[in-house]
Amino acid sequence: TKNKMKPRIKVSPRSTTFKCSNCSKDDAQNRCSRCTAVRYCSKECQKAHWDWHKVACKHIRKKIVSVEKEMAKLEGRGKSWRITKMQPYLKERFDLAIGFQFCGEKNDSRLALELCLEHLIDILMFNRGDHSSCWAHIPGMLFLLDEPQEAYDYLKWWQVLHNDGYYDHTKFELPSGDKLKNENIFEDLSELNLSKKHVPWLVSMYMVKYKILRKIEKDKISYESFLLGTHPRVGEDSPIQQIGGVSVILHNIKKCFSPIDKYETIRNQTIQILKFIDSKNKYIIPGFLNYKVLLEQPNPLYVGEGGSLQDQAYGAVWFDIQHWEPVPDIFILTKELYIQIHGKVKAERDIAELPREKVSLAKVLGKAHLA
Ligand SMILES: [Zn+2]
Ligand SMILES: [Zn+2]
Repeated sequence: TKNKMKPRIKVSPRSTTFKCSNCSKDDAQNRCSRCTAVRYCSKECQKAHWDWHKVACKHIRKKIVSVEKEMAKLEGRGKSWRITKMQPYLKERFDLAIGFQFCGEKNDSRLALELCLEHLIDILMFNRGDHSSCWAHIPGMLFLLDEPQEAYDYLKWWQVLHNDGYYDHTKFELPSGDKLKNENIFEDLSELNLSKKHVPWLVSMYMVKYKILRKIEKDKISYESFLLGTHPRVGEDSPIQQIGGVSVILHNIKKCFSPIDKYETIRNQTIQILKFIDSKNKYIIPGFLNYKVLLEQPNPLYVGEGGSLQDQAYGAVWFDIQHWEPVPDIFILTKELYIQIHGKVKAERDIAELPREKVSLAKVLGKAHLA
């Protein structure tokens, strides 16, 4: 199979303005020229930040050089790039993307996260056989970048492909990741065929619903405090009272918020997905809620499907915890929902029963299970 796309190294971020990675001032103009992944408002901030930034910066620089080297080899081959010959190039590019992710998280750089995402999408377009599991990384990046709609579209695309048996990754004419847009994030869960989904997909979908729920919650609060202004007594001094015909205006203003009346729908869907994950593997949710203890355990040899449930849970938590950790609220809500599913006593016991000693994870979880 020949790929029509040209190998490249540069991608553009989506946003146009970024914060200073040192002082958080908006619209920082100076970009670090070594890694291109962080911005500063001044030379002073760049200098002050170097001690924090240098590890990520040097790593990215090294990977940029490696990608360029592999790209030069490919260019020497003329115009037809066979996918098998592209593997070393794609592998280096994947490592570069992960370097950007590391930098984004450690150096508080949205720019770096955006670059990571664009590289991952690009790699996936080249290599739909996905030897480096870009598929699984992309929803997490969209989660960190606070783009739940795009993450939803992406997960739907992923589902469409997998529903029709196996997608032929070598056929470049098949739909690519950007073909689905503005899918209905409030649609009934029956559209998603949850019982056929594997755990990483379900966890990603849970994360998407979580983001939407939080957004509606926030809008609900602002809308309700706005409504207070329309109250004849509480809102006595409010400018809203000066406007005649309040109800028409309210109707229009309500449209500016996310659909507040969908709050219960999304909350129920969030619980349903959590239940689905829990029914597939009961160690996963307690694992997320007690991840520090869980991940202190030795890394299991194999965490994929077919392995023990405990080892699979370790794998799921290990993979997505990097996307959860910067969002502390997700632990609070997940615990709340987990208690709602199982009751307080059982929920707290499940969470606490994770292994506490440094011995084989499977062994300890097995024991806890028997007790
Ligand atoms: Zn600054
Ligand atoms: Zn740098």
